[in-house]
Amino acid sequence: MIIAIDGPSGAGKSTLGRMLARELGLLYLDTGAMYRAVAYAALRSGADTTDGEAMAKVAREANIELAGDPDSLQVLLDGHDISKEIRSEAAGHSASIISAIPKVRRELVRRQRELGARGGVVLDGRDIGTVVFPDADAKFFLTATPEQRAGRRYDEERRRAPDLNYEEILHDINARDNRDSSRTDSPLAIADNAVVFDTTELSIEEVFGRMLEVVQSKIASQGHSHSSERS
Ligand code: C5P
Repeated sequence: MIIAIDGPSGAGKSTLGRMLARELGLLYLDTGAMYRAVAYAALRSGADTTDGEAMAKVAREANIELAGDPDSLQVLLDGHDISKEIRSEAAGHSASIISAIPKVRRELVRRQRELGARGGVVLDGRDIGTVVFPDADAKFFLTATPEQRAGRRYDEERRRAPDLNYEEILHDINARDNRDSSRTDSPLAIADNAVVFDTTELSIEEVFGRMLEVVQSKIASQGHSHSSERS
């Protein structure tokens, strides 16, 4: 079972991805964390994040591991826990820049496919249903208004960074949406057959219930087609 969840930043992908993984006993793979880890490695090395070849090298050489269960996912770079560091605004901003570099994407997509091929995984990202696993068993696209997404990020991040400002977050969300949607390699887009939820007016529990229904009906229809193949 492979479940793909795509959408812009702050739409609820990681919260819902973790909930689904826990409910269904699947692994949870936060692909944004992988782009953030490469961005962090690049910032640490002092390399120029706009230099495509340098970033491709950082991506190839980065030893990224995602460990732990969905609720306490740890991101390790060369064995060091960088789970907190990659959540900084600087790492998020640089991740959004380096993720437009085709060779960086190629390297991370290759690793995501390898991890997903082990089976039983929920992946959250921007290109999971379109590029990484176009044949995923269930595909979702989550969205919400930029103001709502900025408000959520503001509430989450304020604990870590008390001087954050809502207007700056909204500006950053709009800039990231633009970069993610307009890049030539794997732009953010709704995959064929994806079920779309606008989480602006819906509670997390409501969306979760509907996503679970979609997955359960896929499981039921797959079971049905397997048994009719046998008969
Ligand atoms: O989801 P998150 O905000 O952690 O991702 C950080 C950045 O990585 C995003 O702004 C996006 O540009 C990029 N990304 C991507 N493809 C993915 C996951 C994330 O381009 N599958």
